[in-house]
Amino acid sequence: MKTNLTHRPVALAIIGGGAAGMFAAAVAAERQLPCVVFERKARLGSKVLMTANGRCNFTKDIPPDVFIRDLAAGGERGDFAAAAIRELPPRKIIQGFRSLGVAVRRQPDGRMFPADGKAATIVHAFGDLLRDSEVPIIVNAPVIGLQPQKNGFIVATRAFTLWAETVLVATGGLSYPKLGSVGDGHDFARALGHRIIPPRAGLIGVETADPRVTRRAGRRFENGCARVFDGAGRLLYTYAGEVDCETFGLSGAAVYNAERWMEHGKRLAERSSVLSTLSLEVEFDGECVRVDNPVPRPLKEAIVTIGGVATDEVDPETMESRRVPGLYFAGEVLDIDGPTGGYNLTLAFATARKAVVAIAQKRAGAAVGRRKI
Ligand SMILES: Cc1cc2nc3c(=O)[nH]c(=O)nc-3n(C[C@H](O)[C@H](O)[C@H](O)COP(=O)(O)OP(=O)(O)OC[C@H]3O[C@@H](n4cnc5c(N)ncnc54)[C@H](O)[C@@H]3O)c2cc1C
Repeated sequence: MKTNLTHRPVALAIIGGGAAGMFAAAVAAERQLPCVVFERKARLGSKVLMTANGRCNFTKDIPPDVFIRDLAAGGERGDFAAAAIRELPPRKIIQGFRSLGVAVRRQPDGRMFPADGKAATIVHAFGDLLRDSEVPIIVNAPVIGLQPQKNGFIVATRAFTLWAETVLVATGGLSYPKLGSVGDGHDFARALGHRIIPPRAGLIGVETADPRVTRRAGRRFENGCARVFDGAGRLLYTYAGEVDCETFGLSGAAVYNAERWMEHGKRLAERSSVLSTLSLEVEFDGECVRVDNPVPRPLKEAIVTIGGVATDEVDPETMESRRVPGLYFAGEVLDIDGPTGGYNLTLAFATARKAVVAIAQKRAGAAVGRRKI
């Protein structure tokens, strides 16, 4: 097997060329931190191309504190990425894409899209930047192993190995595995002693055979509403927005956000052993449909994975593992997720930036230290 072990290690190996991996590579290029990107699929950003039906809602133009508050769900605070978001708030993401020549469009509610409505514009902007910066990108190269060494890591693909001082795992979650996110990052993290919070489907439709829904299958209602109630009939959550009727049941932004809220609520209840029944009430087209203990569609169809690498084992100021020095995580591989509206791409970008800035600073600090000696 070919290896670069006889040479010096590369400063950073980025595993995964999705939203977090592309952003990480862009920040590394800006900071002149030598890096290599490994991508399992034939191209970068396969999932980003699918976002918002190919239109890419890349962030939400709201203040960082509001953004962070919106991440809370089901009694869970969801503020692990708060420091990362404060350093890369939505405004900076918007400015960043503008500076790459991407014209952007703002929806009245703050959701941001490329003005041409094409997710490919975002992926091409990253691709152009990385090519111009001469960042090596190895596609069709699933990483199959990660071995910590005295100095750095050996990153293994089937064809060759690479020696890297630091590694950023940006392999995504488990939703839409056809787009490359098959859970490899969870396996690497688990093998290196990290806890994985069991993955659940987030932002997904729920099943119901209610004829008021199924006879409207294929229809979309912009002014819908979804509410969550506990077993005692108390209103816990409400979200006004789009409701879609499907052959399997209900979907659309209002249902997605309510479903995400319930999944967080369920896992909090499991932790505290206080199990409660939850009901979903969905209003659309003059109807009000109630689903008790709703069953979400499978994780492979979900927009986001709830769960992943336990965040108490990762330093939120650096994204470095507390267990394995030099190992970093960013994006959906972590147990972080947000509602619909550009939150999840923003989380991927912000955590990626936080990791790479920390790696660059640590390296610069080490270089200064060496010079002093
Ligand atoms: C249909 C759909 C629509 C969405 N719409 C939006 C939206 O409009 N706005 C929003 O904010 N979010 C949206 N999301 C969510 C968002 O796309 C994800 O949260 C985000 O892409 C996560 O970024 P990531 O880099 O962590 O993971 P990903 O973007 O999934 O990237 C992970 C990458 O790692 C690669 N990889 C995996 N394992 C390996 C390995 N072993 N070796 C090398 N490479 C590997 C994968 O091939 C993949 O390219 C949507 C998701 C879906 C599925």
